[in-house]
Amino acid sequence: TKSQSNRTAIALPQGVGESTFHRAIDALRGHLGKDHVELVTKLNDGWYMENPNTHDAMHVAEEDALVASAIVYPSTTEEVQKIVHWANKYRIPISPISIGRNYGYGGAAPRVRGAVVIDLGRRMNRVLDINPDDCTCLVEPGVTYFALYEEIQDRGFKHLWADVPDIGGGSVLGNALDRGVGYTPYGDHWMMHSGMEVVLPTGEVIRTGMGALPGNNSWQLFPYGFGPTPDGLFSQSNLGIVTKMGFGLMPNPGGYESYLYTFPKDEDLSQLIEIIRPLRIAMILENVAQLRHVSMQIGLEGKPRSTYYAGKGRVPDSIIHEAAKKLSSGDCSWLYYGMAYGPREIRKYKLEIIHKEFMKIPGARRIDPTTLPTTDYFWVRDRIASGVPDIEELRWVNWHPNGGHAAFSPVSPVRGHDATALWDIARTRCEEFDLDLFPTFVVGLREMHLIVEIVFNRDEPVMRNNVRACLRAMIDDAAKLGYGEYRTHLAFMDQIAGTYNWNDGALMKFNEKIKDCLDPNGIMAPGKSGVWPARYRGRGWEM
Ligand code: ADP
Repeated sequence: TKSQSNRTAIALPQGVGESTFHRAIDALRGHLGKDHVELVTKLNDGWYMENPNTHDAMHVAEEDALVASAIVYPSTTEEVQKIVHWANKYRIPISPISIGRNYGYGGAAPRVRGAVVIDLGRRMNRVLDINPDDCTCLVEPGVTYFALYEEIQDRGFKHLWADVPDIGGGSVLGNALDRGVGYTPYGDHWMMHSGMEVVLPTGEVIRTGMGALPGNNSWQLFPYGFGPTPDGLFSQSNLGIVTKMGFGLMPNPGGYESYLYTFPKDEDLSQLIEIIRPLRIAMILENVAQLRHVSMQIGLEGKPRSTYYAGKGRVPDSIIHEAAKKLSSGDCSWLYYGMAYGPREIRKYKLEIIHKEFMKIPGARRIDPTTLPTTDYFWVRDRIASGVPDIEELRWVNWHPNGGHAAFSPVSPVRGHDATALWDIARTRCEEFDLDLFPTFVVGLREMHLIVEIVFNRDEPVMRNNVRACLRAMIDDAAKLGYGEYRTHLAFMDQIAGTYNWNDGALMKFNEKIKDCLDPNGIMAPGKSGVWPARYRGRGWEM
């Protein structure tokens, strides 16, 4: 489905007059060539593979609330520096993206309307290095998981795997910066990075870790180097533009095997999570695990909600379970998708422990993969957990016509009590706001993210308002119990930043001090993650 609006007026950055803006754009064209600077006069949502870089295609607010004034396409780090110098000269906000497919978290949109989006992905998209002995790579921002995967195959490195997230069209570098996850044992993308090259808000370039020592050959091997490690300052932040980043690649483990267990009742959640914790910490459960609610499994069938239910409000549980009877996994409440790695004898040892533990839950079932057709979602998870990029996960966005989605993503210990508390918040609030919810518990190692995806019809303002109100309520409810989100849509960054307020907001004061020091003109992605530069603070920008 497509949503499209015809606008001709450019969203000018606040405080910049029209003639100054056009003069500035002419100057930018002078620096980069006129073909590499585009004014945004039209919004076209396209679709996942042709994603817009002008705005957020999954807008939870008005479509043109968060739009860019122009897009610029640098081809080198030097050109990125030129853009940064230009932004400082004209005091025009800039907002870097790598690919801009950050769906559900704001897509390509800048936090500040009228910012100039720096689309690094279009021309800076080289895999700079793959080292088959050290099992590492060095990439530019435009390298997607699909591209990295293909490059590994093209170079004949059958012994290397990439770690891929649920949907493979995003940037390897961009996803790691936003602290996304994938599903092999290398699933924590931030943890697996080593070495960055960053253009600072005043235009200097730094290399972190071993990259700061000229001629060094351990940049992708040892992330820390010497002295303070600044890498974290450039993650979920607005303190730099990352132009290169290194990662570890997992060696092919010599075999793998997906498994799926189902559990009958919603109330099994608590016991199940207690079973998962020790197994995951001990790495018997080897990959970032997925515990999905059956409602999401129904969504993955890719059919619209109207197939199942025409009424208002959340689709009743009885209807979800009725529909689940027709799935190849049968009716249940929870589904655990995991993978065992290594040769058969190594897998066998772990799989036996997992089976014994999971079967302690009354009514638990192991689904025999040989009974599942090749089109079954099981094989999507099988590909993803073995490092093969995929986009099938998007099937559930069809739940509503013209579907958009946003997520509530709190972090908690891997404990039954916490899982139940968060699940209760999500259910109660979604009930209140007439919304269906697609929840998955994603178990890292010692913590889990609950990801509650909410699908909405982007053309229905009432539904969009409900999604916003519901997310705001869930964020507050969770914070009252001591839970915080790991990542969020642009529209909720201020609210969430406000919940991380221990000791009179000491962390935000620290972030602001660094922001003002490194970005004195406040040009770099103002407001990203709730961090506003001095020029914007206290002027009503928060939302
Ligand atoms: P995806 O990889 O999912 O397509 P994006 O390219 O939109 O995602 O990146 C996600 C977010 O990470 C962006 O909104 C931006 O805030 C940040 N980001 C992406 N690339 C860079 C970069 N090269 N330097 C600094 N921040 C970046």
